Amino acid sequence: MYKITVIPGDGIGPEVMEAALHVLEALPIEFEFQESRAGNACFHETGTTIPDETIKAAKNSDATLFGAVTTVPGQKSAIITLRKEMGLYANLRPVKSYPGVNSIYSDLDFLIVRENSEGLYSGIENETEEGATALRVITRKASERISEVAFNQALKLGKTKVTAVHKANVLKKTDGVFRQAFWEVAQKYTEMDASDMDADELYVDAAAMFMVQDPHRFQVMVTTNLFGDILSDEGAGLVGGLGMAPSANIGDNNGLFEPVHGSAPDIAGSGVANPAGMILSAILMLQFLEEHQEAFKLEQALLKVLKQGKYLTVDLGGTATTMEMAHAVREILNES
Ligand code: ATP
Repeated sequence: MYKITVIPGDGIGPEVMEAALHVLEALPIEFEFQESRAGNACFHETGTTIPDETIKAAKNSDATLFGAVTTVPGQKSAIITLRKEMGLYANLRPVKSYPGVNSIYSDLDFLIVRENSEGLYSGIENETEEGATALRVITRKASERISEVAFNQALKLGKTKVTAVHKANVLKKTDGVFRQAFWEVAQKYTEMDASDMDADELYVDAAAMFMVQDPHRFQVMVTTNLFGDILSDEGAGLVGGLGMAPSANIGDNNGLFEPVHGSAPDIAGSGVANPAGMILSAILMLQFLEEHQEAFKLEQALLKVLKQGKYLTVDLGGTATTMEMAHAVREILNES
């Protein structure tokens, strides 16, 4: 029995969450879903975007599913608080093409591993006489552990190359630390007995270009916070946009899984949101829980629905509602 904290959030968050739970419930796995609050509606009801009970529940569960929240400027970010409190230092963003989804490339399958706890997003900014500065914090420890995550993910996914992306020719000290840590970890994995693991590196500007021109060269990419943020949205753009993109936030003992899209207030309440990003995030959760067989089954069911093209949401060129698409996935699961 897995204890799963479920945070539907705002806007389309609850709609795509309902769809994901609907398909998860069809699997032969026992889940105990515990719903918790966060986000803007929660702020209006409780005075905080992220109550302590929610943080506690998420910390004490086997995994957390997060829908989407509307972040109002000036309010505390629920997701950043959760990532910090739960020690979720790695952000995993698969870049994968799916059939029936209009995308620039139809056969991509690589993973971006983004360091999620420091870098230019450390939140240390100062006003100066001339303007302002932001501190880019890169530690050896965080660089080593994110490199470890990247190589471990490569092994899990059957990939044979990890590419470090940095700008060590300009950011000599900070990315110098990141680069050195990467190569030390890489040595361990590439020199393991019978290892066919390979490692290489690219400057971030070159990586951004290759992602457009020659993305098949990538298997697993590992990079610092800001670069990862930008490159992973570039990755989503290569394979069909935000509605399809899942993400995993993982730490040593915990994982939180969320679609990349936001709360989409423009379509919220009309039941037309694409549930695929949330369902794919649930698949990442199943992989994290080592339920690989069920993860595969659910992915195949979603693939079939996408391929058949009969129950697709508006953004995918269809007319189905969120729940009609989810029902179609569940039907296929029930048949299998
Ligand atoms: P937020 O302020 O919560 O980030 P946003 O609207 O600024 O919300 P997104 O929620 O990421 O940002 O949405 C960007 C655009 O993509 C919107 O037009 C939205 O309707 C569309 N979109 C996002 N997610 C989906 C989805 N799951 N299905 C269909 N369209 C989506």
